[in-house]
Amino acid sequence: MENLIQQLRERRIAVTPQRLAVMAILKNRRDHPTADHIYQEVRRQLPAISFNTVYKTLEILCRRGMVIKVNPLHAVARYDGETGQHAHLICRQCHHIIDLDWEASEVPSLPAADLHGFQVEHPSLTFWGLCPRCQQPESPEED
Ligand SMILES: [Zn+2]
Ligand SMILES: [Zn+2]
Repeated sequence: MENLIQQLRERRIAVTPQRLAVMAILKNRRDHPTADHIYQEVRRQLPAISFNTVYKTLEILCRRGMVIKVNPLHAVARYDGETGQHAHLICRQCHHIIDLDWEASEVPSLPAADLHGFQVEHPSLTFWGLCPRCQQPESPEED
């Protein structure tokens, strides 16, 4: 917890119980929860917290680089407390997300001409496919 407080302060984010609780949940979970998943969990510690507060907290943490929004091409954003370099395996059907270690040495460096003046902060690598469960043929419909 001390560590989290320090990280928030380093990024000039005011430390509140709500922000600490949301960060602690994201650091503990590796399933890339939605805002709603986080809301359901944080409510057990802070029963008065609103969904809106959780959502706004996540957006602030994203803007300050404490959290990454994993945006597979579907409507509901998934949030990641692991901001270190890593890749994702994503199931296109059930949207299950798995973290993969990805060594910095393997990151292709973009030639300056391709950067268009950007400072790259978070290269991301995603492998799309079907998880083992979604590869099972569907059971025939009963009538
Ligand atoms: Zn799946
Ligand atoms: Zn991740």
